[in-house]
Amino acid sequence: MSRKEMELAGAKVARAAGSGASVPVEYCQVCGHAPLVKVLSLGYMPPVNQMVAIGEVPRQQPWFPTDLLHCAKCELVQLGLAVDPVIIFPPEYPYTSGTTKLLRDNFADLHRESAAMLGLGADDLVIDLGSNDGTLLSNFKNGGHRVLGIEPTEVGKIADGRGIPTLMRYFTPEVAAEVKREHGPARVVTAANCFAHIEDVHSIVQGILDLLAPDGVFISESHYLIGLLDRLQYDTIYHEHLRYYSLTSLANLLSLHGLEVFHARAIPTHGGSIRVYAARKGARPVYDSVAKVLAAEPRGEAMLARLKRFRNDVMLSKLRLLAMIRELKEQGARICGISAPSRASTLVNYLGLDEAIIDYVCEIAGSLKIGKCMPGTSIPVVEESRLFSDQPDCAVIFSWHIADEVAPKLRAKGYRGKLVTPLPVPREL
Ligand SMILES: [Zn+2]
Repeated sequence: MSRKEMELAGAKVARAAGSGASVPVEYCQVCGHAPLVKVLSLGYMPPVNQMVAIGEVPRQQPWFPTDLLHCAKCELVQLGLAVDPVIIFPPEYPYTSGTTKLLRDNFADLHRESAAMLGLGADDLVIDLGSNDGTLLSNFKNGGHRVLGIEPTEVGKIADGRGIPTLMRYFTPEVAAEVKREHGPARVVTAANCFAHIEDVHSIVQGILDLLAPDGVFISESHYLIGLLDRLQYDTIYHEHLRYYSLTSLANLLSLHGLEVFHARAIPTHGGSIRVYAARKGARPVYDSVAKVLAAEPRGEAMLARLKRFRNDVMLSKLRLLAMIRELKEQGARICGISAPSRASTLVNYLGLDEAIIDYVCEIAGSLKIGKCMPGTSIPVVEESRLFSDQPDCAVIFSWHIADEVAPKLRAKGYRGKLVTPLPVPREL
């Protein structure tokens, strides 16, 4: 695809940014192909990070259709609606990556693996896009490298306070050019769990390409479509996540910009992600891992059949979980939720849970979500200590993807009720 063709494909795609609202995705966000095939609908959902304070009078809130579409041409699975970032990424965006041990461990591993593989030196600049609270970059900083974070939300201030220089801007080709003038080319650009979030993906990749030194490497970590399908993680489908990458679709996107994937591997974050290394075509030897991952991914008709099975499994999962909850409520049980990650909003709203069913949701002390209500509901989010004094009969772990980390802690702190994981199969631990 030439730059001209890409611009033409890009021009067909309506932009939500700046609209103050949302636009349907009618052409593939990557290759411009139409029509896209609808493979799943979760109904209408509220923005996952707009949380109303407990006790506030309920007001009008936007709800957005939540459908998944498949592109037959480049294999991209994508959301059927793009919502203006000002709506889904409010400045008070309450997500911080440093609070999850699994994420902290993963970023330490990313530093070890990439520093060894690329032979990173002291002068090498590492830039993280969507750098959040600086957790990823702190590893590179401690490793002695130059670092710069780019983070549009208020969370960037936390990173700055921890000594991670952070530019609080949305990443655009203009910002890329500015950063390069000021700091020089980057040896590594990372994008962890934000590469699926940004609407104009081609200008982002172009910006990354402009930032990278000739031997520079782009490392992305994205929630992995195949893992999402295999573990029934439909709860990770929400409007921040515009695209759900397989390695096939991600490699197709990067190759449009002359970037070649040279290493890929599965990592455990967010319930199953993929770490992908790319460089300018021919700049690095390509590892066997790439062909191996690609060979295991379904394509075309096989992918459509896989997505159809997923749709049926999602529906059955909802009915089974509701059956389990109904049985508990018939016995008079009190039920609470454990943790309020963004994905919990999809689960709660897709199932239609409300404050009559779930008394409250617990977050660990310090969470910015405490004192607010679960999106789209009046279910209050409270500090975790309430669980131990209150001892409700059952606790549903909404952060079920890290249940192994969460459940033993709750037991050690004295919770005696039932612990339930809602997905992939509703199960008492
Ligand atoms: Zn496409």
